[in-house]
Amino acid sequence: MRLGDGDSLPEGTELIVTTPGWKPDKPLFLAAGRAGVPVWGDVELAWRLRGPDAAPWLAVTGTNGKTTTVQMLASILRAAGLRTAAVGNIGVSLLDVVLGEERYDVLAVELSSYQLHWAPSLRAHSATVLNLAPDHLDWHGSMEAYAADKGRIYHGNRVACVYNVADKLTEDLVREADVEEGCRAVGFTLGTPAPSQLGVVEGILVDRAFVADRHRNAQELAEVSDVNPPAPHNVANALAAAGLARAFGVPATAVRDGLRAFRPDAHRIAHVADIDGVAYVDDSKATNTHAAEASLAAYEPIVWIAGGLAKGATFDELVARSAKRLRGAVLIGADRALIREALARHAPEVPVVDLDRTDTGAMLQAVTEAKRLARPGDTVLLAPACASMDMFTNYNQRGDAFAAAVRELGA
Ligand code: ADP
Repeated sequence: MRLGDGDSLPEGTELIVTTPGWKPDKPLFLAAGRAGVPVWGDVELAWRLRGPDAAPWLAVTGTNGKTTTVQMLASILRAAGLRTAAVGNIGVSLLDVVLGEERYDVLAVELSSYQLHWAPSLRAHSATVLNLAPDHLDWHGSMEAYAADKGRIYHGNRVACVYNVADKLTEDLVREADVEEGCRAVGFTLGTPAPSQLGVVEGILVDRAFVADRHRNAQELAEVSDVNPPAPHNVANALAAAGLARAFGVPATAVRDGLRAFRPDAHRIAHVADIDGVAYVDDSKATNTHAAEASLAAYEPIVWIAGGLAKGATFDELVARSAKRLRGAVLIGADRALIREALARHAPEVPVVDLDRTDTGAMLQAVTEAKRLARPGDTVLLAPACASMDMFTNYNQRGDAFAAAVRELGA
């Protein structure tokens, strides 16, 4: 029998443990719901087996920035001398960690919306939803359902629910969350922080939520230049990580040291080379429009390399908001026409090179065209706003192809 295809449960089923990717509308799950049989994902299983006893969880979700924030958080916790690990959706199984031999003081946990959907009883020490933009809606069914699943991360928090002041949806989720008594709502902002917030004042990351010294109303944490790279969205990630670490009682100096020690994973705004005064930056991991908008906001002027599989996205908002930064655009991949049309509507003066090929070698041609369009002081930015599988195995291979092409041109 193929589980999930039938509309009835195998006789005597008491529990279903599912891989997080399975959609909730599978007949098997609907039948389980009717029969009152619980369905757990891997995170729920880890939590139930030993979650609370293994170590407190500082949990991170959001449409973009999860991996970066969890790694920054782990780096900060390590700088504070704590035994920790970055786990969960980042590729390290929570089950392995909570059942393993190694002992931890605290875990930095990345959770996807799928994992949260199947983890109804998880209760983190503190948690954050970094941002919310439409993604994976085919799986969740609607933006409301997607947001509700993300919001589960705040459920049962003991110390702090950290939210994004610039993204009201995240604050709404905190307001709706059922938390432990005494748990605080803590905002992070790229502007001047209000009380109970972390923010930025004259290039300094500042904490006005967890101030140990009662004679002061703010604690300086680090400089913006300590964040790697110091792009606005990444400073927001750093503030969120700092908020969670501070909720766990980590001192300001460890925030600074941890941020300085942090190195981003490959293909996330990675500086590849400077050639003839032009910077080449690989943000192949910008696989949706929300992510691409963040990296486009970090540079100017830009020759933008974009395209791939659109996954049902529309590009009008992204292009309209980024148009004034664009020197030119080079489009690749299966759904490039959608971006070309958005550029024609919102940035008709921007020169566009439309590469009508989807073979892997197209990247060398794309970078060659981008080099031709760029002037000294510009940035050639690979931020595709699309998935890569039409041309590449994954975003890693796409980013590697970009870097190889840049090196070939620079040689
Ligand atoms: P995730 O684990 O959520 O996919 P990553 O940390 O791997 O996030 O970053 C993926 C991409 O998302 C980055 O390459 C960057 O383009 C973008 N990004 C990172 N942080 C943010 C943020 N806070 N807001 C918007 N986009 C972001």
